[in-house]
Amino acid sequence: MFDILVIGGGNAALCAALTAREAGASVCLLESAPFEWRGGNSTHTRNIRCMHDEPQDVLLEVYSADEYWQDLLKVTGGITDEKLAKIAIRESSTCRTWMRKYGVHFQAPLSGTLHLSRTNAFFMGGGKALVNAYYRSAEKLGVKICYNAPVKSIKLEGDQFSAAILENGERITAKACVLAAGGFESNIEWQREAWGIDEQGKSPADNFLIRGTTFNQGVLLKNMIEAGADSVGDPTQAHMAAIDARAPLYNGGICTRIDCVSLGIVVNENAQRFYDEGEDFWPKRYAIWGRLVAQQPNQIAYSIIDSKSIGRFMPPVFEGTTADNITYIALQLKLDPLALNQTIDDFNAACRLGTFDHTTLDDCHTEGLTPAKTHWATQITVPPFYAYPLRPGVTFTYLSLKTDETTAVHFNGQPSHNLFVAGEMMAGNVLGKGYTAGIGMAIGTAFGRIAGKNAAMAALNLS
Ligand SMILES: Cc1cc2nc3c(=O)[nH]c(=O)nc-3n(C[C@H](O)[C@H](O)[C@H](O)COP(=O)(O)OP(=O)(O)OC[C@H]3O[C@@H](n4cnc5c(N)ncnc54)[C@H](O)[C@@H]3O)c2cc1C
Repeated sequence: MFDILVIGGGNAALCAALTAREAGASVCLLESAPFEWRGGNSTHTRNIRCMHDEPQDVLLEVYSADEYWQDLLKVTGGITDEKLAKIAIRESSTCRTWMRKYGVHFQAPLSGTLHLSRTNAFFMGGGKALVNAYYRSAEKLGVKICYNAPVKSIKLEGDQFSAAILENGERITAKACVLAAGGFESNIEWQREAWGIDEQGKSPADNFLIRGTTFNQGVLLKNMIEAGADSVGDPTQAHMAAIDARAPLYNGGICTRIDCVSLGIVVNENAQRFYDEGEDFWPKRYAIWGRLVAQQPNQIAYSIIDSKSIGRFMPPVFEGTTADNITYIALQLKLDPLALNQTIDDFNAACRLGTFDHTTLDDCHTEGLTPAKTHWATQITVPPFYAYPLRPGVTFTYLSLKTDETTAVHFNGQPSHNLFVAGEMMAGNVLGKGYTAGIGMAIGTAFGRIAGKNAAMAALNLS
């Protein structure tokens, strides 16, 4: 029998497996994906948000624990577990040394719309390289890794883990277990249930695209909730970016994100604006735009900019629709040209020009317009104009297993002694809503390591 079973094959699972092994436990990791698709959403990542009290290698200036906390409070509207959030923040300041030990390399950030050079450390080669390095290290340390090993359910004795049952019926026992099998973002049926289905059998979720893996079906999340584990979070809350409507249903990754929202305006299929495009810096807002688009008719919207904005954002993988006048843009997008011209005329008339500066919350704003655009509001007047179609792109869902600083799974408020949870499966404890770029990997790394350590302690104390 193994000491520890880790279920999942992404960042959180690998951090747990490596830490449990470091502590002397024997570890088996079950990844539902085949080798070539291993690593879950973590393979799509680029960076981790890290606090630091002084400039540190790839991180510029200072990003204090308090500023990090204030950023999180703002984006979540206070729906966060302060104790857990502060653990993730604190751990983010030291985890890079540990990550490097297992082969992760960092690189200086690129400039661009995301303004991340002060706050986020970028992985050399992205999340794919990080995941590959962790797998290599885990193998070297003797972690047994099983691919094509989807777990269907967990066998409990009271609130204690006793075995994992694979889809093929195989039963694997261990002294302790870490669940790190992602959210339920890849499960369209569950998304439909969460978002509601109308009389015609339609749901907003029919128009969602999934930015990452197909494998995060939420099988174990559902299984554990049905088995009586405490949960936290609203199933419609998620990290949802506005992504190019032409992206594939799964695994479009970061190159399908549309990052020019804050530089122009966004309209729905009625050619009406519906939210402040300049509310805050893009890393603190990009993850709500998918949800905003999800609330629009037919879950479609269009980001429109003029040529002044070209070069100020990371170009998306698909080319924009372009034309020298707004009527032509409208016709190509199948929007009402009169309505779109009116929306843009109203917007242009409301712009109070200040000093445009995309790196600060500048003074370019609208007056007398609803909704307002509070920063970076400059008139859309210089042809050619560009438009990009937007759909909700689900990154990961926030419905989670409730936990505390030990990462134990709870049943009726009581912690299990040998069942722990990490990563997306518990991120909703910290993220009730909203998101700030790079905190997903901060949560997964911090609580993956804590889960691995505590699982090892639980298992080795039992020996
Ligand atoms: C396009 C994209 C870009 C992102 N960029 C960033 C970024 O730059 N920075 C950041 O902080 N966050 C980013 N995120 C979010 C980040 O990916 C997640 O927060 C983080 O990777 C979650 O790690 P995890 O280990 O919990 O989940 P995952 O990495 O998704 O791993 C879950 C694993 O569980 C496996 N699994 C699922 N069900 C089962 C089962 N029943 N049995 C066995 N195994 C199972 C899956 O195959 C997968 O390997 C991004 C996400 C996406 C989609």
